[in-house]
Amino acid sequence: MEFYEYMAYELIEKIKTKEFTIEEVIQKSFQRIEETEKKLHSFVHLHKTEALDKAKKLDNNLREGKSIGKLYGLPFGIKDLICVKNSPTTCGSKILEGYLPPYNATVIEHLIEKEGAICLGRTNMDEFAMGSSTENSSYGPTYNPWDIECVPGGSSGGSATCVASGQTSVSLGTDTGGSIRCPASYCGVVGLKPTYGRVSRYGLVSYANSLDQIGPLSRCVYDSAMILEIIAGHDPLDSTTADIKVDNYTQELKNSLENKVLGVPKEFFGEGLEKDVKDRVTRAIKKLDSLGAKTIEISFPHLEYAIPTYYLIAMSEASSNLARYDGLRYGEMSDDLSGDIYEVYSRTRAEKFGSEVRRRIILGSYALSAGYYDMFYIKALKVRTLIKNDFQEAFKHCEAILCPTMPTTAFKIGELVDDPLKMYLMDILTCPVNLAGLPALSIPCGFDTNNLPIGFQIIGNYFDEKSILNIGYLLEQELNLYRKMAPIMNRGI
Ligand code: GLN
Repeated sequence: MEFYEYMAYELIEKIKTKEFTIEEVIQKSFQRIEETEKKLHSFVHLHKTEALDKAKKLDNNLREGKSIGKLYGLPFGIKDLICVKNSPTTCGSKILEGYLPPYNATVIEHLIEKEGAICLGRTNMDEFAMGSSTENSSYGPTYNPWDIECVPGGSSGGSATCVASGQTSVSLGTDTGGSIRCPASYCGVVGLKPTYGRVSRYGLVSYANSLDQIGPLSRCVYDSAMILEIIAGHDPLDSTTADIKVDNYTQELKNSLENKVLGVPKEFFGEGLEKDVKDRVTRAIKKLDSLGAKTIEISFPHLEYAIPTYYLIAMSEASSNLARYDGLRYGEMSDDLSGDIYEVYSRTRAEKFGSEVRRRIILGSYALSAGYYDMFYIKALKVRTLIKNDFQEAFKHCEAILCPTMPTTAFKIGELVDDPLKMYLMDILTCPVNLAGLPALSIPCGFDTNNLPIGFQIIGNYFDEKSILNIGYLLEQELNLYRKMAPIMNRGI
């Protein structure tokens, strides 16, 4: 087995049993990055020196018999919008060039400071997490390791490619309308969006704060369960986190599915779903049946309103959140300081924000402006409640919901850049989950005729990550695809 094929839990085991030193693990990770990064562009900043220094320190502590935390120096990729103290955090945007946060996000405190993980670098993303392809990054796109002519999905595209290509076994992403699950699906890895309020958002740069959640990406369900155990929980620094007990997710993975009722919403298999996606997902549902679960058809009457509702709310919140980037309080100012302060603000924002971010600020400001507020924003909030109620009704009859993650497999780079509306429609099966604040897991369930991965989505009830991880784990073992590595190739040649 190649080094880069190890799962996170296997690497930890090998460090514990002294088969590898942490320094070796970090060296080998950077070696893999050096071999593959030119083709993939998963990272926007790499921290080789810092990572090796920390590895040496942890190895020393280990030799001296000191505790170094549960993660034993495990290397991570961290999305470029989660604050790491004194380390560039730029949200894939020119406007935050040179920004060094003076503090750590709570998830970083848990993973890195407390449990001894090591950050290899910051992963590429759509600017301010706005997009489904990672093409909206000011650093340029990331390429899908299954076919480098295709997008990796987004906005956490870098976090998915670094895992799929073996540059690292685990990473952190964020999901506002699908940004963990979409790239997980397109890159053939596991992605978990936790319940809203399960993981602290303190130190996460907000896109749309009533929807955003941080979560793990990994190559197997066990690793995501292990990371969630560490990052989940109440945080006094984020008042939206819930004071609800964190389960032992890794210990509940093998529970039997005997007699569990799982719902399949017929509307999630409607128009626009590619045939290969439908076939593979249906086959995976049958596998769950054979594992003892009972699947029933359920209905989700308001699905057709999910996209407009999501985009209205997300853009409205974004327009307000991004008002702080004026070059003075945050961000880099334009070189041209002529005119009054308002001219400088608007020049700075016009120069430093990309076109998708500007589009959303304009649309969001419009939806929130006097006269339109009731018509658009308030209406969207009401429909959000209807969508939430659809899920609540469904959970009266079943324990979890099964459906595809994305309606298609990865599309070609450049294919949708001029058609933002079409790109927005890709979120149809993921964004209802964020509107309701529920947890959802995406795991690979097969490949299409072009050998591109297909994602299977399992949606759970509030704070029931335990059940979706359990279902995902048993299905993963049954399908047995999780050791298959992305070939990193260009099929067009
Ligand atoms: N594609 C969605 C959007 O552009 C989701 C993004 C996300 O989850 N961050 O808003």
